[in-house]
Formats: sequence, C-alpha cells, structure tokens
Amino acid sequence: MKKLETLVDAYLHKGLREKLVLLLREKGITDENVLAAIGKIPRHFFLDSAFDKIAYEDRAFPIAADQTISQPYTVAYQTQLLQIKKGEKVLEIGTGSMYQTTVLAEMGAQVFTIERQKQLFEKTAKYIFKDTYPQVQFFFGDGFEGLPSLAPFDKILITAAAPKIPENLWAQLKTSGKMVIPLDESASTQRMLRLTKKRDGSVKKEAFDAFSFVPMLQGKTQK
Ligand code: SAH
Repeated sequence: MKKLETLVDAYLHKGLREKLVLLLREKGITDENVLAAIGKIPRHFFLDSAFDKIAYEDRAFPIAADQTISQPYTVAYQTQLLQIKKGEKVLEIGTGSMYQTTVLAEMGAQVFTIERQKQLFEKTAKYIFKDTYPQVQFFFGDGFEGLPSLAPFDKILITAAAPKIPENLWAQLKTSGKMVIPLDESASTQRMLRLTKKRDGSVKKEAFDAFSFVPMLQGKTQK
C-alpha cells in the first residue's frame, strides 16, 4: 500500500513536471499531445514513495520484480513514433509500472496492456486511474502471443528488448498499422524501429536511435 503522501500531486510535483517537459523538448520531442500527457500524468504515483522527490528526473527507476519504469525520454520517444490518434486500439507489451499505459490512455487511446510478471500484474488491480481511464484493460500473459481474440490493433508498442519481430504480434496489426519495437542489435543495445504494415502485407521499416531496455522474455511467471 502506498503512503498517502505519495498520492498527493503537489505544486512541487507540477513544477518538476514542467521542467521535465522542457527537457524533453530540448531533447527533440515535438509531438504536443505527448508533451501535454507527460505534463499531466503524476509519474511519482507510479514509483515507490522513496523515489517521490526524484520521480521527474529523466531516468529509469527500479520497480518490483527486478523490472524498471522506462525513462521519460524513452516513453516520449516511443509514444511520438506511434503517432497516436484518439480512439485507436493500442496493444502494449510490458505493463511494468503502468506509466506508459497511462500516457497512452491520456492521449485517448484504448489501451490493452500485457505483463508477464505476476507480481506486477497483480498491482494493476489497484490502478489509481481506473475511473479516469476506464478504456484501459490489463492482461497477465506472454506478450509474444499478443491478444488474438481482441485483434486487430491500430498500433503495437513493445516496451522490452525484443530478440526478433514477434510474428504473432505482426499478424495482429491492422493494415496501415504501426509497431514500435526496440530490436536487439548488440548484447546491450536495441535499435528503435517503426514498422508499418503496407496494403500488400509487406513491411515498411524505419530505424531510429539506439536504446537500452530490459529483455522481452518468453512465458509468464508463476508468482
Ligand atoms: N511500459 C513499462 C516499462 C516496463 S519495463 C513502464 O512504463 O513502466 C518492461 C516490462 O516488460 C517489464 O515489466 C517486463 O516484465 C515486461 N515484459 C518482458 N517480456 C514480456 C513479455 N513477453 N510479455 C509481457 N511483458 C513482458
């Protein structure tokens, strides 16, 4: 259970968020909808209370189950590449802290998000923005499988380092849909790719910067 003080979005936090948005602009994020969402979502709600004061630094932090909440720049970068429009169906692989999920929901996406770590999935039952974003649905499972019964999706976002392009996920993408995926390039870095499904089913591949994510792993945990 989080301490009550961490659930307060104080004036201080708002000021820190404004600074973070300025920094993201300086680093090259231009999508105003992405910046507005990051300026609005209280990132400190998604971290352990020990990190409350530094929640708006542009860095990743540990969460439960040895996983991380992505760096704000990475969240902004991936979200910008997705070109989210209101009402789109978005499949997210790697719920983690639910922060990226919430940024997508604030932008008007209908979000379906999968987590393989039971310990993290169990926290989603207490999602504090349940009433604000009723269009978010959480799933416990293996992201390599996707959600065939809910496909097709307009956009697919992978927030862990993928060893290859998951075939099942590609099959669940609409025509003209886009997948943003950090694909393994070396032992420690991934190349950010945006894949667009062309009318004939073939792929248009665009390559962007290198990042470092926790690995996308097969199967789901037992506890
Ligand atoms: N989007 C998250 C990022 C979390 S880090 C956030 O904003 O906090 C990546 C997450 O992907 C981890 O929680 C990890 O457990 C999860 N993950 C890794 N492989 C997965 C898979 N095959 N299916 C679903 N989730 C996976």
